[in-house]
Amino acid sequence: MSKQNVIVILLGPPGAGKGTQAKRMQERHGIIQLSTGEMLRAEVAAGSQIGEQAKGIDVGKLVSDNVIVEMIAKELSAQDNTSKVILDGFPRTLPQAKALGELLDRGVFSLRHVIEFKIHEETLIRRIVGRYSCSVCNQGYHDEFEKPVIQGVCDNCGNRKFLRRLDDREGTIRLRLSEYYELTAPIIEYYNNKGLVSSIDAMLDLDVVTKDLEAVIIH
Ligand code: AMP
Repeated sequence: MSKQNVIVILLGPPGAGKGTQAKRMQERHGIIQLSTGEMLRAEVAAGSQIGEQAKGIDVGKLVSDNVIVEMIAKELSAQDNTSKVILDGFPRTLPQAKALGELLDRGVFSLRHVIEFKIHEETLIRRIVGRYSCSVCNQGYHDEFEKPVIQGVCDNCGNRKFLRRLDDREGTIRLRLSEYYELTAPIIEYYNNKGLVSSIDAMLDLDVVTKDLEAVIIH
């Protein structure tokens, strides 16, 4: 099979806006968002075997590499051979990055870009603590930065019930951030050595970040 399938990795701490931007790329450019966090939350909600192994996500603990790698390998093999995929939340450890490298060696996918979202820690906490989403369509909102047009009603589907992630509490965010700096940030160096990393300023306005991201990944 030719290497028409393209992968882009979004790297950055929780709250940097990776999920929001990946969703925009999916809506605007048909690039498929594969979010390991969303997959795991769905597995926990469904009470599946993977969900059992992923219960620690509510307190900010990373799920074991082998569970994650198996899950993402399955998702990638389900794509057709012209897919463009954004990986949001994977890889998150060096062993995961190496396992992805082995999947890429099979020749079906080609890794084009690794985008590092740069952002200050105080901004992250403010962004995470205020965020919530529609319980039906998953549309994301924020207490300060992105309110629904009619208060209490989802712009997208009209639903009136919203959810806040359990791991978005301030104490848990600190643990998630320390896991990021210790286990995930070293991956940037790993991909830097391969000449694949572009950095974008994730402190900027959402629309500006979208444009900056498009400038790198849309050709
Ligand atoms: P996210 O939605 O990307 O913030 O992920 C939410 C939570 O899911 C993380 O805090 C981890 O507990 C877990 N998780 C998501 N992706 C991974 C991964 N690649 N490796 C390990 N745990 C993950």
